[in-house]
Parts: sequence; C-alpha cells; structure tokens
Amino acid sequence: MSSKKVKSDKNRYSVGISAMLLIILIVVSSLAFLMINQRRGSDFSYTISGAVNLTYWNETKGMPVTLEKGWEFYPDRLLTPEMIRVSRLETSLLRYPYYEGVTISANGWSDLGDSAELYSFGQEVKKMSNFGVGTYRIELVLNQDVDYITLNIPDIAQSATIWVNGKAVRHYGIVSNSKDVYEPAQVSTDIQLEPEDDGTVEIVIDCANYSSPYGGILCSPCIASTATIGMIEYSVRMYLTVLFAFWVFFAIGGHYISKTFNGKAKFRFFLLMFLCEILYEIFSPMVTVMPGNWNKLITITLLIFSNYFSYLFFFSLYPRGTSKLFDTLRFFEITLFSMLTCCYLLTFWGFPSVLYLPSSVVANMVFVLITNVFSVFRVLYMVKRYEHGKYLYVCAVILSVSMHFSCFLRSQYFVYITLHAFLLLFLAVGFTLYFVMDYVQTYEKLEDNNRNLASAVEEKTKYITRVNQDLLHNHEKLLENEEARKKMMSNVSHDLRTPITAIRGYVELMLNAKEPLPREQEVQYLTNMHTRSVQMEQLISDLVQLTRMESENDTIEKMPISVKEMVGDLFQLYHAECEGTDKVMHFNAPEDDDLLIDGDPKKLLRVFENIIVNAMKYTKDDGIIDITCHRYDDPAMLGGNAVEVLIKDNGVGIPANEVPYVFDRFYRAENSGINKTGSGLGLSIVKSIMDKHGGKIWVESDEGKGSEFHIVFKASEYTFDEEPEDDE
Ligand code: ADP
Repeated sequence: MSSKKVKSDKNRYSVGISAMLLIILIVVSSLAFLMINQRRGSDFSYTISGAVNLTYWNETKGMPVTLEKGWEFYPDRLLTPEMIRVSRLETSLLRYPYYEGVTISANGWSDLGDSAELYSFGQEVKKMSNFGVGTYRIELVLNQDVDYITLNIPDIAQSATIWVNGKAVRHYGIVSNSKDVYEPAQVSTDIQLEPEDDGTVEIVIDCANYSSPYGGILCSPCIASTATIGMIEYSVRMYLTVLFAFWVFFAIGGHYISKTFNGKAKFRFFLLMFLCEILYEIFSPMVTVMPGNWNKLITITLLIFSNYFSYLFFFSLYPRGTSKLFDTLRFFEITLFSMLTCCYLLTFWGFPSVLYLPSSVVANMVFVLITNVFSVFRVLYMVKRYEHGKYLYVCAVILSVSMHFSCFLRSQYFVYITLHAFLLLFLAVGFTLYFVMDYVQTYEKLEDNNRNLASAVEEKTKYITRVNQDLLHNHEKLLENEEARKKMMSNVSHDLRTPITAIRGYVELMLNAKEPLPREQEVQYLTNMHTRSVQMEQLISDLVQLTRMESENDTIEKMPISVKEMVGDLFQLYHAECEGTDKVMHFNAPEDDDLLIDGDPKKLLRVFENIIVNAMKYTKDDGIIDITCHRYDDPAMLGGNAVEVLIKDNGVGIPANEVPYVFDRFYRAENSGINKTGSGLGLSIVKSIMDKHGGKIWVESDEGKGSEFHIVFKASEYTFDEEPEDDE
C-alpha cells in the first residue's frame, strides 16, 4: 500500500514538473521571440537587440517617423524613379501630384489618412481605391551601423515592379497601364537593399491591379537587417514548435479532463479557452508583421492547429462504447481529420506558393466548416446528456464556431504576431496552471477517498479478524464444553455406580446369607450402605446445585451479612466436631467489626462450609485449622475496602501443578486419597457462587505442608445499626 502511495506521489510530481517545464519553455521562447521581433514599433528609433534604427529622410522635419506612414503615393501613375526625380526638380511646376505620409494598409492600394498632404497644383486627385495603377515611393536614411536592410512585402496583388536606388530589382507579373498587357502574380517577397554611402535608400514600387479593389501592397514592408531576418526566422521556428507543444498538451490535457473531470470543470475549461481567444481577437491588430511567407504560413498553421486541437477536444467528449456504429464513425472521423490536417500542414510548409491560390482559401473554409459541423453535433449530443450544463455548452459551441471563422477571416489579411505571442503565453500559462490545479485538486480528492477507503478496509479487516477470533474462541469453548460434558457424564456415572455397586454388594451378601448374619456384621453392612447412600445423595445434591448455579435463571438475592457471625457459627459447629479428636481449630476475627458484606446467606454458607470441611478432610488427625476473618485494605483488591476469610490448614496440600485445576468440575488432586470421599464438585460450586457475588477465591498450597484458601468479598456499605439506604 505504501509503495503504491509513493508511486502515485511520483506521478503527481512528474505531471507537475512537466507542466512547469512546459510553462518555462513557453515563457522563455515567447520572450526570446518578442525580444528578437522588435523591428517595428511606433517608430524606428527603437533599439532592442535586433532592431534597426531608421530615420526617414525629410528635409523639413528631419525627425524619425514610422515607416508605414512614410510613403509617398502617386495615384493612377506608373512612374520610374527617374521620372519622379525630374518631376521633383521642377518643384515650381510638379508634373506628378502626390500624397505624402501615406499608410499602406490592407484595405486598398493606399490609405491616405488625415495627415497625408497633397503635393499638387491644387487640382483634384483621385485616391487610388479603384482598379488601376499607382506608384509608391519612400526614401530612407539608415544609421551608420546598418549595412543592409531587407524590404519585405508580404503580399503583392497583383503585379509590381520594385526599384531600389534607381535600379529595377524585381518584376512580379507584368505591370501595365493597359488591362490587355497586364499579367497578375500573387507573391510575397523579401528583397535585400544596399544603401548608398551616405545611408540613403530610395524604394519605388509600381503596382497594377485590374481585378480587385483590394490590391497593391497588402502589408507594410518590414525593414530589418539580413542578420535580424535570420534570427527572426529561427525565433519563428522555435515559437511554432513551442506552440505546437502547447497545442498537443492542450489536446491531451483536454482529453484527460474530459475523461476524468465532471461536466462543470469541462465547461469552465472551455469558457476560459474562448475568453482568451476573444481577447486575442481584440488585440491582434496591434502586433507586428513577419517577413516573407511566414505571415501566411503562421496564420494558416495557427488556423489548422486551433481547428484540429479544439476538434480533438470535442471529439474526446464523444461517447464511446454506446453503439458499434458510433465507434466505427469515430474511428473514420479521427483518421480522416488527422490525415487532412497533416496534408494541409505539409502542403503549406512544403510549397508556400500554394497559399496564394484562391483554391487554398476555399479548402480552408471547407476544412473549418466540416470540423465545426462535427463539433456542433457533438456538443448537441452532450447538451442532451448533461442537463445542467447545456447553456454553457451552447456558449462553447458558439464561441468555437466564431473562433474558427474569425481565424479563417484573419487568414485573408495580416497576422500580428507579437501580441499573439503574449496572448498565447497567457493562454498557455493559464491553461497549464488550470490543468495542474484541477488535476492536483482531483488527485487530492482521489487520494483522500483512497485513504478513507483504505482505513475503512483496514477497520473492516480488523473487525472481521476480531469476529473470526471470537468465532474460533467460541468454537474452542464449545469443544471444551463438549469435552467437559463427556467427562462429567463419565464422572457422574462412575461416581453414582460406585456406591450403588457397593450397596448392591451388601444387599446381595445379606440376601444370599444361608444363616442369619450376626448382629454386629449386619450393623456393619447397614452402616456401610448408609454411608454409600449419603455419598450418593451428596453427589446428586452437588450436581443439582451446580447445574442451578450455572443456569442463567439462578439469581442471588443479596442482603447484608456479617461474615464474622456466619463463619463464627460454622466454627462453633465444626470446632465441636473436632472435640474428642486431635484436630485443633482456631478462629480469629476483629472484635469491633462485624465485617459486613452483601450476599446470599444460603450460598455463602455453602462456600465457607465447603472450605472448612475440605480443610478438615484433607488434614491428618492432628491437623491444625486456622480461620481468620479480617478487612483487606489493598486498593488493588476489588477497589480496596474488602473483607477476607482465610482458612489455613497444615494438611496434605495440593501439588503445585494441580493448583490451577482444583476449582474445575470433578477435579480431585492426586493426593486427595482414595479413602477421602468426594466428588470434586465442591470447589467448582464455590467458585461459581464467588463469581456471582463478584468476589475472589484462590488457594496457595505447599504439598505436604498445607493449604491456604483466600475468600475475598467487597465490603458492604452499611452497618447493622443503619438502615440500608434506598438507592432510588
Ligand atoms: P472434593 O469433593 O474432592 O473434596 P472439592 O471440589 O471440594 O472436591 O475439592 C477438589 C479437590 O481439591 C480435592 O479433591 C482435593 O484434592 C483438593 N482440596 C480441596 N481442599 C483441600 C485442602 N484443604 N487441602 C488439600 N487439598 C484440598
């Protein structure tokens, strides 16, 4: 039992330790990720390890500004850097009006915003929010310590030419003013830029899109050093690995919880999960972009993970073993979803360009839809099963569906990672703590139950052992009684037969005598016959008394008795008998004390008489018998305040090994002598009378030297002068 306890304690610790390790891993990796991923803050003068200091070149302000708002935007035009330069030189007469301080956003080609200033002749310039073409331009001055930067355009829709310091470095599709020669290409790109000696970098991007109002550059460019990009990629990998570990932990934990815990704990678990998800949804737009295809990859991975693992959780709630059909469906379903999930992940990570196909968006949608439909069915089933939890379940399913769809929608736009990291950290820590706490609580409850059970079992075992022992004891007693009964029967029949045989012998002698017997002999025969019949009568009366004493119905009627008086009377009687012989009998008793006890007078008389008669019987003709009555004030004896009658003789004594048996029925010591008549019942009658009176009797004896019988009673509370007090 103790080894089991040690084992389960170990399990408990190992669960706790793994949970703690996971938390630490998540915290460390998330923090590392956050540290590295600091290349874009509210402005670029920001320096945390890996960040790049950039200053926007601005003659008038010369202040560091955020990069995303630093763009110029030439609507409806495809301009080379040269054309822009020429246009700028003719400052008094700008050929190409443009906006400055433009944000490139998800919602169109450009978001002019309130702070955008129009550089033009005052003529009206359309925003490029419709289909068509436009040119972006930005000029940066890099700090001395930055050698290279990477321009990252996560999503180009649908064709673009990118110029860096006057040179066209990339073409995506064919950029054209005419829809007929235009060719779309959906890509994400990283371009390494080399600044001029003075740190200046000019980026010009021509974009064309004739198929959608949502085109052009779909995300703010990410600018970082090459080294930083490498680190970012590592951190992303690490981050995703940890994320994956978290999801696995979540699914296993969820499954475990669903098996072990009650319905309410499951609901709480779900609500917590979805609360975190909602928070994430609210805060996610505030976070940073990732380089290259990472954005899309991470989005899609998160989508697939969250979908798959929350599906797994719902799946674990599915009833098992209720029907064969259900079980078979279960098997196919889990296999199908697991395979689908693997295919998705492998495809996207193996061939990221697939991400830009419209069909992958549709596939995502189908995947999300199917898993949600299954989840909803499962939840509906559970609602039927758990009466009181049904509202929570409905909430859970609504949240689940909305989460999946929001994830799906977000995958169309940008992924904001930093806050996501924070929120997942929060999620992970929260869930892990929740798991561990709930697990430990449940575990402790189980332990408690176990302990209670163990102690109950122990108690019951003890009880059963006791009952067993009692039974065994009773059985032995029964056997003993049976043995005693048999012995008694044989003793009784023997003891009865002996005198009867003797009497019959004398009668036959007298009957068969041919001549009348002499008177002397006749008297002798008759005396012998008389003695034998007295002996028989004594035996029968002893037997009757013993049987009566041992029956439950034999009650004793107690009254105050003076031991001194009763024993004194007996002394007078037997002292008289000793007269004429060499036997001497002495009597000692306190003069001023009646030595009162409570008892049945007839029965006590029998006790004292029996012991005195034995003393006379088992002493030689010149024996001395001392009878002493006195108070016995030993607190160990009947609680103190007792009266003792001590009858001492210098007779044959009892062999030491036989002393313990003299109070047994029919027991007669070896040395009791064949001449001394006796049944061996006297002392057993005495013993049972003493027991009924709550008294004690024992004998101390030395073989050949004599015996000393101690008879002790609890002293009475009254004296003869007082009326006994009424208890009631
Ligand atoms: P019994 O009828 O044989 O006297 P008891 O029950 O009175 O039966 O005594 C049991 C046995 O105890 C006697 O047979 C005898 O051996 C022994 N015994 C009793 N009293 C004495 C005594 N005063 N001295 C020696 N032996 C005694």
